[in-house]
Amino acid sequence: MITNDDYALYSLVRMKKKHPCSSRSDLFKVIRLGMDIKLECQGCKGIITLLRNDFNSKVKEVIKK
Ligand SMILES: [Zn+2]
Repeated sequence: MITNDDYALYSLVRMKKKHPCSSRSDLFKVIRLGMDIKLECQGCKGIITLLRNDFNSKVKEVIKK
């Protein structure tokens, strides 16, 4: 599991689950870092919000910090 130090604002991350959109992208950009985290799907540009602990357990890898 990754920790808070492994990523930063605007990091590019690969999630374990693909976004349920038409592009089925698993790449997301971190666009807000706080108590919760907002991620922008790099396929459809849709935004999802996750609690930080939830995010940490759902990230597969940090591609670019
Ligand atoms: Zn999407």
